[in-house]
Amino acid sequence: MNEVSSREVWRAVLGELQLQLPRATFETWLKQTEGISCDGQIFVVEVPTAFTVAWLERRMYQFIQKTVEKVAKQSLEVQFHVKDSGDNHPSLAGAITHGSKPSGFRTRRGSSDDGLENSGSTWEAEAPILNPKYTFDSFVVGSSNHMAFSAARAVCEAPGQEYNPLFIYSGVGLGKTHLLHAIGHQCAAQGMSVLYATSEQFTNEFISAILNRTTEAFRNRYRSVQVLLMDDVQFLSGKEQTHEGFFHTFNDLHNSGHQVVITADRPPRSLALLEDRLRSRFEWGLTTDIQAPNLETRMAILAAKAEQIGVVLRDNIIEMVAKRVQKNVRELEGTLNRLVAFAQLGNSPITPESTLRILDDLHADADRHSIDPDRIIEEAANHYKLSPRDILGRSRTKRIALARQVVMYLLIHELELSPTQVGRLLGGRDHATIIHGAGKVSSGVNENGQLRKDVLTIKEAIFALEPQKPGEAVVGISGR
Ligand code: ADP
Ligand code: MG
Repeated sequence: MNEVSSREVWRAVLGELQLQLPRATFETWLKQTEGISCDGQIFVVEVPTAFTVAWLERRMYQFIQKTVEKVAKQSLEVQFHVKDSGDNHPSLAGAITHGSKPSGFRTRRGSSDDGLENSGSTWEAEAPILNPKYTFDSFVVGSSNHMAFSAARAVCEAPGQEYNPLFIYSGVGLGKTHLLHAIGHQCAAQGMSVLYATSEQFTNEFISAILNRTTEAFRNRYRSVQVLLMDDVQFLSGKEQTHEGFFHTFNDLHNSGHQVVITADRPPRSLALLEDRLRSRFEWGLTTDIQAPNLETRMAILAAKAEQIGVVLRDNIIEMVAKRVQKNVRELEGTLNRLVAFAQLGNSPITPESTLRILDDLHADADRHSIDPDRIIEEAANHYKLSPRDILGRSRTKRIALARQVVMYLLIHELELSPTQVGRLLGGRDHATIIHGAGKVSSGVNENGQLRKDVLTIKEAIFALEPQKPGEAVVGISGR
């Protein structure tokens, strides 16, 4: 396997892992990795730090190795190597506390005892770095996230003032962490000291500070920053001591006019276990949510992400994906990565056909088996303004024959029925007729735009996809 295909295999693996792992895990440990070589036995993956190597080996080896084998279709051992470039994380120095390194903060020397060269001089044992890709420029703004985006920008313009704290909430994968990092980059660039932490991290550090009797250092560390970015505060819930710690941190910062930005998966009032006094503090500033993006925004996001990874996607492909993947942006990205990886692996262009196939693989597994063949017949008949009886009957007029072939195609591809079964369902036709009919549609969707549209529309109806509200336009793509 050459270098290029190692990279592609790894990207497909990442696409797969991204869909199966919790977001935080993927972002923290896998996002910045790269497949660099494979000699037929050992697949080498480059990762940013020795700490990541250790973590991946301990926690995730089997899972990753199995996925690599599945994608590469051969048995392989996986090795993680630390990337040896001069400075991997330009954002690190600027973003994680400017000036003196707080004494209570755990850092370790890049160790030489494991024989691995560490890239920076020190690395943060637990502090996540700000993802360089999560900037305001790369954030696509639409009606669903416009408020949160504007508030985030406003915070950077006048930190610690009007919107303090800024509280952003949404379901998973809708851009909270992205915005938080964007604020971090921007404020750090303006020379402010910034600290980003997940609530889990805060909790862990707080607890170990208590154990190690370093609470003073801990407090100083948090108190000394000008901008505190606290991600996923719902994970503070239920930990009394930690609440206390956060409460004081929050007050300290707020009282001295420093900015606090908080995210959570729900609004403050619904953070059930959070203490009242903390909850009401959260509501002092501005609370804003992010909704799931509408179709136009999803398309704009896909286009932007494709551009980022240097892939040109035709509008019809973008639309297909955006229509099918609706839940969150992370899933949208995962699907795009998968699409690109498979195209590169198979050295074939991304066609509507291959897109459909991948979308089906990814998303239809669950609903495929619950769909009634009659539903397909009905929807196809509907679309061509016919009755189901026409489809089952013997007439060979052009429209009826076409509708019938589309039904054959859908029954085979969507329900995975055998041609014989399909023949039986369609009024006792023989399986050769079915194969011929379904085959015509299957090649037709590649060449014939109208047929492709027909098939897509019928599929949408079958899978009862939410119709999109027209006219909810994208507000703008920042940085363009
Ligand atoms: P959350 O923290 O809300 O779970 P993330 O910020 O981690 O979500 O977003 C998930 C992924 O989707 C990230 O890769 C992020 O860059 C991307 N994303 C989310 N919203 C947008 C957007 N409006 N524009 C561009 N990318 C986005
Ligand atoms: Mg997040």
